[in-house]
Amino acid sequence: MNRIATDPFLPPERLLLGPGPSPVAPEVLAALAHHTIGHLDPAFIRLMDELKGMMQAAFNTTNEATLAVAGPGSVGMDAAVLNLAEPGDKILIARNGVFGMRMSEVASRGGAVVVPVDFEWGKPVDPAVVDAALEANPGVKIVAFVHAETSTGVLSDAGAIAAVAEKHGALTIMDAVTSLGGVPVLVNEWGVDAVYSGTQKCLSCPPGLSPVSFSPRAIAHIKARKTKVLSWFLDVTQVMSYWGGEGARAYHHTAPINSLYGLHEALRRLMIEGLEYSFARHRQAHLHLVDGLAKMGIDFLVDEKYRLPQLNAVLIPAGVNDAAVRSSLLNDHNIEIGAGLGPLAGKVWRIGLMGEGARIQHVDRLLGSLKIVLASQTA
Ligand SMILES: *Cc1c(COP(=O)(O)O)cnc(C)c1O
Repeated sequence: MNRIATDPFLPPERLLLGPGPSPVAPEVLAALAHHTIGHLDPAFIRLMDELKGMMQAAFNTTNEATLAVAGPGSVGMDAAVLNLAEPGDKILIARNGVFGMRMSEVASRGGAVVVPVDFEWGKPVDPAVVDAALEANPGVKIVAFVHAETSTGVLSDAGAIAAVAEKHGALTIMDAVTSLGGVPVLVNEWGVDAVYSGTQKCLSCPPGLSPVSFSPRAIAHIKARKTKVLSWFLDVTQVMSYWGGEGARAYHHTAPINSLYGLHEALRRLMIEGLEYSFARHRQAHLHLVDGLAKMGIDFLVDEKYRLPQLNAVLIPAGVNDAAVRSSLLNDHNIEIGAGLGPLAGKVWRIGLMGEGARIQHVDRLLGSLKIVLASQTA
């Protein structure tokens, strides 16, 4: 059997309006195609320094330990949880969707004792409930939560949750995979100790990197660990010897050079646009979608107050075939939207307006196609 592909792979041109990946700008794709250089080349070190500065700006932090972990958002989750939590440590995890559940799995595999605090899917994390759970469970060392739950389209009040953790002397871990670039992420102001994100949501970069940041308090905590970090690759104190700078860079692993070129260009574009302008653009696209869907009689799962502009969980109208609509949008209209997960499977569609996807013309194209597809369903 001939195992050689007859042709180079050419992907179809899709408009990505699902829960990620998001559309990638041509400038970012072009940056990815530059010549590969060595990971200790002085030119590459300069790129890493610039990247670090732009990641700090995006996170609104002065944390020295700010870097891009090689791997998607889930690897950032592993890095945050496995560096902060030692086996036997009590970690409170607020769960209001898929990604809180995943954090529990990461923590328990790492031997931590998980104190779960569950909320209905489609509702935000209630800081008062977290407060009460911390009262009831003395000795919790870490509080972890998801800022923007991509499985439900809900934004939680990160500042209030971090303040509750601080009151009880616990460190905080925040998942900002979907929030970064789409809504404000104020790591220093909120006092978050470990935060991780991903490139393929509102940063509009291909998947494969996870920007992370650790506070000085978190780094001191990691240095004082009694046991080694479970993962050699993700041990942040060691990775920092490569990202740290000031001439002391040592080989740790071979950085994904070209992916970092892409992130550099994506962050540069975000900085040139300005964070506030990016947030406003996400909000405008979201409101345009709300308007258009309302005219079609389609409603949202989440209360207006907690809705994420970049991830819209909309209720599938009665009698409509969920899978057939998504498949027709993809195959006949080249538009990808997401399915509901867990208890929301078959109940909602997840429409992502992330990064480059958050533009009025994309919303209009989706609304037009959705009308055609829904009409053909009821015909
Ligand atoms: C997408 C996502 C992740 C996981 O990121 P991957 O890049 O898919 O590994 C984690 N948390 C949230 C909130 C996400 O939206």
